[in-house]
Amino acid sequence: MERATDVFVIGGGPAGLAAAIAARQLGLGVVVADGSRPPIDKPCGEGLMPDGRAALAQLGISVPEDVSRPFRGISFVSGGLRAEANFPAGCGIGVRRTILHRLMVERAEAVGVSLRWSTPVTGIHPEGVLLGKQLVRSRWVVGADGGHSLVRRWAGLDRFRSDRTRFAFRRHYRIRPWTDRMELHWGPKCQIYVTPVAGDEICVALVSCDPHLRLDAALPAFPELASRLRDADPSSAERGATSSTRKLRQVYHGHVALVGDASGAVDSITGEGLCLTFRQAQVLAECFVAGDLRRYQHEHRKLARRPAMMARLMLTLDWKTSLRQRVMRAFNSDPRLFSRMLAMHVGALSPLDFAANGLSLGWRMATV
Ligand SMILES: Cc1cc2nc3c(=O)[nH]c(=O)nc-3n(C[C@H](O)[C@H](O)[C@H](O)COP(=O)(O)OP(=O)(O)OC[C@H]3O[C@@H](n4cnc5c(N)ncnc54)[C@H](O)[C@@H]3O)c2cc1C
Repeated sequence: MERATDVFVIGGGPAGLAAAIAARQLGLGVVVADGSRPPIDKPCGEGLMPDGRAALAQLGISVPEDVSRPFRGISFVSGGLRAEANFPAGCGIGVRRTILHRLMVERAEAVGVSLRWSTPVTGIHPEGVLLGKQLVRSRWVVGADGGHSLVRRWAGLDRFRSDRTRFAFRRHYRIRPWTDRMELHWGPKCQIYVTPVAGDEICVALVSCDPHLRLDAALPAFPELASRLRDADPSSAERGATSSTRKLRQVYHGHVALVGDASGAVDSITGEGLCLTFRQAQVLAECFVAGDLRRYQHEHRKLARRPAMMARLMLTLDWKTSLRQRVMRAFNSDPRLFSRMLAMHVGALSPLDFAANGLSLGWRMATV
């Protein structure tokens, strides 16, 4: 049997590292184990909204400008129409997933987290976790092992409501970004997200309900984007992942708590997955110190509310093309509507303001 730690984190992706850093910053002893080795890559839109950047800063991490690219807002492009808005304050940042992972690993090391790579966890135990036959004793166990979490199953937390799973393919291109916004291109039952991630590179991610639809086959439906990418060289291989919406009944049991995609997820269309994860990690660490995981359950639910609502709204626009085009026309005729929607998306508008915006949008749609 090995020496005890306060917190054992299973999974060293963004959620696991964030949970480890937050717990360590509050003085707890933390071990992280991951079956892979860094830098760990994963298909992602690679955009951090301003609220995500703020949550990352709370963990003591700022992304240097020479390995990233700021963006000042979001553009929607659909059926020949374009709607654009800037964030109400601050910038988002595009950063390659491998770089974000490296920065998080460096921060975890700097605050004294013990990191074990190539170390798959094989089970949990009332007193800690199992690495094969070895028991590592731990007061708390964190399941940060992603969307297909085994910890969730081991802890008996595998009861959830799940919407349609969507399929994502991501590739980078060596090209000078043509925009200082993150672009969301709407196509026939699919979207392509474009995020500038460096002065000479962009990340392009396709998301659809069709597991066989790849980027090259989808691009002809996006003529503007296809023409921009025609002469650009890919700078990474195409990689796939799934994107789901999943709401768990319970995110803790006994001494085991889930964080990040293991604890449920909002559809990737929101671009808020990492922000949500970093915030969960912060609250979870506070709840460990207070010895109160019931509060974590409560706060976890509250944190997911806004992104989940935005995901529902945006996925409705995905399914209903004629509604989307009416919304786009309304955004075009009154750009303040889109600005306010974006402000709400990043948590800078209250639900009351949102309701007022909904009414204005409805009125505008009826009159354009
Ligand atoms: C297409 C797409 C685009 C997205 N775009 C954005 C975006 O632009 N902005 C944004 O904020 N979010 C985005 N997201 C969401 C974001 O990528 C996720 O929320 C984030 O990856 C969650 O991280 P995680 O650490 O929970 O899971 P993961 O990144 O999956 O990490 C889980 C880790 O656990 C490890 N592991 C698994 N099992 C074990 C085990 N038994 N023992 C030890 N280790 C184990 C794995 O090796 C892995 O490293 C996107 C998601 C998708 C699918």
